Amino acid sequence: MHKVLVDFLYSSGDGYGIFNTDDQLVYANPALGDIFSIPIEQLVGMGFDAIIRYCHQQHKGLKIETDDLENWLLYAAQRRRSVPFRIFEADTMDGRWFLMSEQCNAEGAILLHAKEITVQKQLQQALQVAEQQLRHLANTDELTKIANRRSFTEQAERVLLHQDRTDATCSMLMLDIDHFKQLNDEHGHLAGDLALQFLTRQIKQHLREYDLFARYGGEEFVVLLTDIPAEEALQVAERIHRQLAENPFQFKAHKMAIEVSIGVAEHKQSESLAVLLQRSDQALYQAKAQGRNCSVVAKPIVV
Ligand code: GH3
Ligand code: MG
Ligand code: MG
Repeated sequence: MHKVLVDFLYSSGDGYGIFNTDDQLVYANPALGDIFSIPIEQLVGMGFDAIIRYCHQQHKGLKIETDDLENWLLYAAQRRRSVPFRIFEADTMDGRWFLMSEQCNAEGAILLHAKEITVQKQLQQALQVAEQQLRHLANTDELTKIANRRSFTEQAERVLLHQDRTDATCSMLMLDIDHFKQLNDEHGHLAGDLALQFLTRQIKQHLREYDLFARYGGEEFVVLLTDIPAEEALQVAERIHRQLAENPFQFKAHKMAIEVSIGVAEHKQSESLAVLLQRSDQALYQAKAQGRNCSVVAKPIVV
């Protein structure tokens, strides 16, 4: 029975090793030697610290990522016999991943087992990348590559909560292109699409990194300016009007100024996003009614 077991462990693809109470490796199978990149004839008899030092210095076997090896060894020593059983993941310099387990008996000897999980790890990493890509797609407007309404709502709710907590003021701009249907009708849908991308670039130039900017609908955009009261938000809106007047959009041989109407509203303490959006939209509606290509600041709400 004993020989059957020893033969079995020797030829196993999983790594097996036994450290005695002095932390010397008294048994190792070839698979474990392969993980540490040390032949078993040499490996058996080595202390745990010596094995780790070898891997670290030779850049072989187990990947030991530290600038302070002594501290690493101290930390490992604290953990190794702290519990009867523990599992952890480790990778090798050649890019393989292992699920390691250490089983500690009453005397303090450790049975080390290493199961290769490279494929599972690669799948897990690929899934994480795919998930990130999906999340990005779900939050991004395909045409302009800025946030979509869904993502804006989510982020803006968070910003408003934060602004409420810190007693800060922020303001919203709701922008809608003037007579956009006409541009589409005269120059075609492609021109319209390019104009939307052009407008996005123009507006971005007047925003800071932490302002929220999203395509809210077809030719409607929304901006949440953090830590900015209405008067300053109106200045930002005016700068956008100027920018667009000075930089006409060019499509083929045609140059045309894109004009927008903007509704400006300052967020009031504990006002919901829905109400702030509604007030911005009303101000935008007034800007349209006043002849377009202008900005209107929403009246403060009466409490
Ligand atoms: P107003 O000044 O009152 O805002 O007039 P408008 O023509 O801009 O408004 P209206 O709501 O009548 O038309 C909006 C147009 O925007 C109609 C629609 O075809 C166009 N539009 C919406 N989304 C897109 C898009 O993704 N690409 C293109 N090319 N056009 C779009
Ligand atoms: Mg519109
Ligand atoms: Mg419009």
